[in-house]
Amino acid sequence: MISLLINNSNSDSSASCETRFGGKPSAPGHNFAWPTCKTCNGNMQFLGQLRLKKQDDGEPLLLLFMCQNDPGLCDEWDANAGGNKVVSVDCQSLSLVEPPNGGDTIRPILHGAILVDVESENYDTARVDWAVAADVNPQEVLGQLAGQPSWIQGEEVPVCDSCNNPMSFVAQLEQGPDWETAMNFGGGGCAYVYRCSCGKHQAKMLWQC
Ligand SMILES: [Zn+2]
Ligand SMILES: [Zn+2]
Repeated sequence: MISLLINNSNSDSSASCETRFGGKPSAPGHNFAWPTCKTCNGNMQFLGQLRLKKQDDGEPLLLLFMCQNDPGLCDEWDANAGGNKVVSVDCQSLSLVEPPNGGDTIRPILHGAILVDVESENYDTARVDWAVAADVNPQEVLGQLAGQPSWIQGEEVPVCDSCNNPMSFVAQLEQGPDWETAMNFGGGGCAYVYRCSCGKHQAKMLWQC
């Protein structure tokens, strides 16, 4: 069974614990530290937030950030170079985080996602099969939640900074349905999101194209 994330253009802009892309992040409390890029020191861009399927240690919300101040120059594809960051938060007492001044921080178009389970051999076949059956562009498929990654290049499983074990795959993301809402994964690329269940709230992303 493959769990596809399907574009849902109707999305509420208030604080939310649901998967959605663009807009402002939702985080607990009022002391959220907006991530900055290790290379250019600028504020990263908020890509979107992912509500994971239930994990051994809870149901975290992952906030995805990536530097877009100098696209291509900040190693933003790499899981460890500091050009992107995944922040794992609890889905409690969420409020919208206001972006800091300076840098390319917000993608103005907000869209949600619904989960659709498809019986298929792998993600790639599931994506195409669903689009054909629904008679829509495959770009309406935003990615997959859980399951197995479909690598564009070779396998690159990140290692947890806390326990040094390989992390667990949680999602694969497409750039998005159209150019206005698309995330920049190098032009037709996919991002791969991982987390570790060691209890230290570690999560990483990387992308390939
Ligand atoms: Zn940067
Ligand atoms: Zn770990």
